[in-house]
Amino acid sequence: MNEYKNVWIYAQVQQGKLSPTAYELLTAGRKLADALGEKLVAVLVGYEVSRFAQDLIEHGADLVYVCEDRALENYLDDVYAKVLTDLVHTYKPNKFLLPATNQGRALSAKTAVFVGTGLTADATEVTIHTEDGQLYATRPTFGGNLMATITCAHTRPEMCSLRPMSYEKAPRMEGRKGEIISFPYQADKHTSLVKFLAFIKTEEDGLDLAEAEVIVAGGRGVGKPEGFALLKKLADRLGGAVAASRAPVDSGWIDYRYQIGLTGRTVKPKLYIACGISGQIQHMAGMSGSDVIVAINKDPNAPIMKVAHYAVEGDLYEVIPSMLETLK
Ligand SMILES: Cc1cc2nc3c(=O)[nH]c(=O)nc-3n(C[C@H](O)[C@H](O)[C@H](O)COP(=O)(O)OP(=O)(O)OC[C@H]3O[C@@H](n4cnc5c(N)ncnc54)[C@H](O)[C@@H]3O)c2cc1C
Repeated sequence: MNEYKNVWIYAQVQQGKLSPTAYELLTAGRKLADALGEKLVAVLVGYEVSRFAQDLIEHGADLVYVCEDRALENYLDDVYAKVLTDLVHTYKPNKFLLPATNQGRALSAKTAVFVGTGLTADATEVTIHTEDGQLYATRPTFGGNLMATITCAHTRPEMCSLRPMSYEKAPRMEGRKGEIISFPYQADKHTSLVKFLAFIKTEEDGLDLAEAEVIVAGGRGVGKPEGFALLKKLADRLGGAVAASRAPVDSGWIDYRYQIGLTGRTVKPKLYIACGISGQIQHMAGMSGSDVIVAINKDPNAPIMKVAHYAVEGDLYEVIPSMLETLK
């Protein structure tokens, strides 16, 4: 196990765009690398991805491995996992962080199986245990009622997928120097059982939640699917996006991709307006990092009213129109 050195992060690229999760992993990875006195390494896999390498260095990577080929243009689990497995066997990283995005969740699991090591999925915090240098990965469990810290004592690398938005993005240090090493794609070895047919983007009807600085979220208290149109008005007025708790998603009032919480998205906007949401722990798991929380609720004793910076007691169908009127 002593042969395994350095902290790796997987810099996800999808449809020609570098995912901002790469910068979050660089923040988390830098803390681990410094605690161990090892290098922070970023891994890029795809087509024409080497153009992101210097940017990763300027955000904290000491070294970037790049595997690029036309055949890697479209993401396929098994091909990418085979590339990562070869990289791991060749360079032997100590820790390996991937983003808990759709791609990262699938890729980390498959790679961990191919490599034969352990993976903590969907962690929200990672630290190095001072006594033995092990990776301690913490994640919510039992429906968010407990935080479990998971270790992988007997195999390397210790792998972990880390929830987006769990760490701040690493700042840019312009002109920072680092090393870039190419790694060959091997058509005969990096094969797939799956054929890529098409990438179909879901229709966007608003801002991406991950990027929104203002989020107006609705819960069961919205009462009906049409109620979200009122929330959308407020969101549009504030330049923000609409989201939801699980209750309206389960009721079919709004699509799952808007769900915030333990089994939905984690967000960190500057302003989170929770309308008709009680504030159960599973919902809070996805939004408690927001800078300012405003809650609109009929029930002054709802848990969200206690964590909100501004708690508005009232019917959302009266409060929101009055907010819109004031904003005019
Ligand atoms: C394993 C597991 C995972 C889960 N994952 C998630 C998750 O990812 N995200 C999530 O959100 N939940 C999740 N849940 C569900 C969670 O426990 C709650 O059931 C859910 O968050 C409740 O949604 P809500 O607050 O909208 O509804 P409720 O708890 O029913 O609250 C509705 C609130 O609306 C208020 N209200 C009613 N009418 C009005 C009105 N006209 N104006 C103002 N206020 C009004 C009420 O006073 C009440 O406080 C999970 C549960 C489990 C067990």
